[in-house]
Amino acid sequence: MLITLEVRRLFCDGVGCGRRTFAEQVDGLTVRYQRRSPLLQHLVEVAGVLLAGRGGARLLNILKVPLSRTSVLFQLMRMRLPSITTPRVLGVDDFALYADVYGTLLVDAGTRLPIELWAGRDAEQLAAWLRAHPGVEVVCRDGSLVYRQGITDGAPDAVQVSDRFHLWQGLSKRVSDIAAAHRGCLPETVPEPEPAAPSPELEPFAAADTPAHRHARRLFEAVHAFSGSGRSLSAIARELGLNRRTVAKYARAASWQDCVRRIPPRRSTRLDPYLEYLRQRWDEGEHTATVLHQEIVAKGYLGHYQRVKMAIAPLRRGLPIDTPRERPPSPRQVARWITTTPSRLGLHATEGLGRLFEHCSELQRTYDLVRQFADMLAGCDASGLSDWLDDLTDSNLPALAGLAKALREDQAAVLQGITTPFNSGVNEGRITDLKLQKRIMAGRAGVPLLRQRVILMAHLRRRYP
Ligand SMILES: [Zn+2]
Repeated sequence: MLITLEVRRLFCDGVGCGRRTFAEQVDGLTVRYQRRSPLLQHLVEVAGVLLAGRGGARLLNILKVPLSRTSVLFQLMRMRLPSITTPRVLGVDDFALYADVYGTLLVDAGTRLPIELWAGRDAEQLAAWLRAHPGVEVVCRDGSLVYRQGITDGAPDAVQVSDRFHLWQGLSKRVSDIAAAHRGCLPETVPEPEPAAPSPELEPFAAADTPAHRHARRLFEAVHAFSGSGRSLSAIARELGLNRRTVAKYARAASWQDCVRRIPPRRSTRLDPYLEYLRQRWDEGEHTATVLHQEIVAKGYLGHYQRVKMAIAPLRRGLPIDTPRERPPSPRQVARWITTTPSRLGLHATEGLGRLFEHCSELQRTYDLVRQFADMLAGCDASGLSDWLDDLTDSNLPALAGLAKALREDQAAVLQGITTPFNSGVNEGRITDLKLQKRIMAGRAGVPLLRQRVILMAHLRRRYP
């Protein structure tokens, strides 16, 4: 659509006025010296914020606003950021900018909007920002020494809060470490086969000469050849051309067998009596696992839906129906079970944990300590904190004892984190947001563009929820 707009050209008779003629402006439609109406300019800017250069230009071209990638970026970078009002409660968090390079994100914990972002995460930058923006009363941060130092230097009177999100994340990390150290206990979560079960291949490592086993043995020997050399895991990983996490796994293991995924022998399960029925129903055309599960539940099946789904999975690929082999959960999965609120845990996980704890008292102890901390957080009640820290120290679990040591050194802020409602407003969601944007930009345009987009996008999201 084309709008033909006629405006008046006006003369100025003022003696002291340097301007001879000027054109009339129409509010909301024209701006002096601009080639775009305010509405169109807004569209260009929004496209830039949401999609950056290339994507923004593509969208605008579809909308018949031909603009180059660089022009969109230029318009984006020209946008003024909302002016900063110094927040009363500030959230500070770091995020990975590139592989080993970190950045710092500041969030107004009141509005939950990001207000500043820069490359690096050292104390001095944060202290300088706080000095330039006096008036921050509370700062929520992670447990790191660096930000603690920066706040102490830049805003010595501010109350420091160790963020509950980070406290929980720190504890969860230790739980993962413990679960990984108890990898060998995890098959206990899988129910015992029924007594009648014939077990033809009970020896899981009998010959131990599969390609996977040879591979594990070779890596184990290669990694452990470096022990005592004082080289870092990263250096060893580079040397061997392996992923650092793989090297870490082998370095931690006491033997190569620990690094092999154990596949439990075929066990008879409660589903066995229903396999024939499932096969028959499948042939009749019923392919929905939930429906099939309900049907056999009505016939007395007590097992989990997941098993039915796994059992019919081969049928979907035209293979014969198979009894599901239940794999033991991964350490990460067990850690998630342990850190999930019990009422939100499914029956499958609850039963698995119960079996696991009967066998492994250390994971049981870990679970109890996690629940105690969860109760403190939920009730904003830190009266049990000292005792809880003592229990961690006495738990005989090095991961938890180490955590207790770190938390004690920061105990005032930890106490604040448990008892105050403040949190940094930095959460997993926001960091995911950042990661996504980094990927869109592929690291080329750098931090100024990232800063522009992260801040403006958050405001945009408020405006167009
Ligand atoms: Zn164990």
